[in-house]
Amino acid sequence: MKLEFDEEVEAFRSEFLEWLAVNRPPAEAIAADPPRSSAYIPEWAASFTKRMFDDGWLVPGWPSERGGRNAGPIETLVYLEELNKAGIPRTTNPQGLGIIAPSLLDYGTEEQIQNYAMPLLRGETAACLGMSEPDAGSDLANLKTRAVRDGDNFVITGQKVWTSGANYADFCFLFCRTDPDAPKHKGISIILMPMDTPGVTVRPLTEIISPEFPDLNEVFLDDVVLPASNVVGELNNGWAMANGSLAHERSMVWLMGVMGMESSMTELLGMAPDLLAPMSTVEQATAADAIAGLYIDTLAARCLGYRGFARYVKTGSAPEQALMKMYSTEIRRDLARVAAELCGPDSLETGLSRQGSVGSLDAYFTTFGLTISAGSSEIQRNIVAERVLGLPRG
Ligand SMILES: Cc1cc2nc3c(=O)[nH]c(=O)nc-3n(C[C@H](O)[C@H](O)[C@H](O)COP(=O)(O)OP(=O)(O)OC[C@H]3O[C@@H](n4cnc5c(N)ncnc54)[C@H](O)[C@@H]3O)c2cc1C
Repeated sequence: MKLEFDEEVEAFRSEFLEWLAVNRPPAEAIAADPPRSSAYIPEWAASFTKRMFDDGWLVPGWPSERGGRNAGPIETLVYLEELNKAGIPRTTNPQGLGIIAPSLLDYGTEEQIQNYAMPLLRGETAACLGMSEPDAGSDLANLKTRAVRDGDNFVITGQKVWTSGANYADFCFLFCRTDPDAPKHKGISIILMPMDTPGVTVRPLTEIISPEFPDLNEVFLDDVVLPASNVVGELNNGWAMANGSLAHERSMVWLMGVMGMESSMTELLGMAPDLLAPMSTVEQATAADAIAGLYIDTLAARCLGYRGFARYVKTGSAPEQALMKMYSTEIRRDLARVAAELCGPDSLETGLSRQGSVGSLDAYFTTFGLTISAGSSEIQRNIVAERVLGLPRG
């Protein structure tokens, strides 16, 4: 059986590849100033983002009046795969591009779109996502940061944590409680908060990986005054908007996971002959078995991803997609552990890149965050149990 995309999809691929050949940022520029944080914009990224947006390639799946080219899900898949093959990050501000800009276009006022979303899409600014708090992570509805109305303003007090890129971002898409008397899931609003507003203190959390370039932050908010016109969408409707915001690109999350696994696997396979050569026959067999098992998992993830994707394209939803975040991030962690074990003491070499090349302990440590951010594996298992398998709550 020969599986291939139809002609229009291949024409779309060719058009993008031609554009990319002319406009891609030089590999040396990326290597010289790599993405360091979720909101750090190197010069090459700023100009590449602008070129992509101006030419309709930053968000090809969006309608043309929003800067896209009405690409369907299959074209979008091909586009993301080609960028990945070329080794070019689509964005250096994933929260801004993937969640905040589209949410502003969905729910924001014209002024918010012009002042906040458009500069993000043109690579001029970066944004961070202020959801999690010390007692509100998996249970986001428990958030306590308060925004109290004072005339035309809101006065905000509270604390956020794990805010990726807050140390570089220009503004925060901040989730606050605006009605403390409403039930937990109600009374939450989203407010746009420029990071240089008086009363905002960002404290980077030193991480085990690349401590010189922290990405996660605590954000303290002490009587921060923001105009009521910075509220996004309907007041007290933040929970519903959060679900809408996080649904953006959800259909493609599996692909990011699978492509990450495949890149790590390709690297490991390239290193394997040298790593296995000095081993005894028994050690070689054990190592080869571990690598082969992970290779099969990687192939299975792509097949499962395609199966879910095909179902999603036909019906608009797919149970397989609920498994993919958990499956791909956990396999990636196993793969990084096996690679680090095979590299032995060499795995201690650090500073290779923010993510770390596979085989380094940096890469292994990074994979733990992947199993937590955007919904931990335990939460994903709950979702699969309850919503996919229909099991009763314990
Ligand atoms: C790399 C990274 C980047 C992040 N970036 C951002 C960001 O930009 N903005 C932002 O707002 N947040 C961000 N986060 C925070 C992330 O959303 C939270 O860490 C995540 O939601 C988990 O919340 P928590 O850390 O408070 O853990 P908790 O919710 O306290 O959970 C602790 C443990 O209990 C488990 N658990 C919790 N509830 C249940 C349950 N009902 N059933 C079973 N087990 C459960 C969890 O799986 C976990 O193992 C980031 C996190 C990471 C790791």
